Amino acid sequence: MSEVKELTCICCPIGCSITVEMDGKEVKSVSGNNCPRGDAYARKELTAPSRIVTSTVKVTGGDRPVVSVKTASDVPKEKIMDVIREISKVELQAPVHIGDVVVSHVAGTDADIVATAENEKV
Ligand code: SF4
Repeated sequence: MSEVKELTCICCPIGCSITVEMDGKEVKSVSGNNCPRGDAYARKELTAPSRIVTSTVKVTGGDRPVVSVKTASDVPKEKIMDVIREISKVELQAPVHIGDVVVSHVAGTDADIVATAENEKV
């Protein structure tokens, strides 16, 4: 049975309105996107949605109490809460540098959590 879904592309600030025709779990057509990234985004969003997760992690002995972190790659949407729960349990010791791996394979995914800011020892 055919079904039409409407999405807004989040790949750039233009935010194209995309229409996707689905046949069950299969994408039949994508329209409304102004570039191939929108096509790829819509197909992935409706078959295997995933996101970059950003958060903060506690730091002791540093110039700030937390450091910002993010997943180094997308994680499946259904794993986002597990990722956030795991990040919330982490506590780092300063110094922390941009790109430091804070958690490997967070919540059983392929993604690492990496620091996105500096936190110097005081
Ligand atoms: S389809 Fe292309 S132009 Fe439109 S919002 Fe997505 S990335 Fe931007």
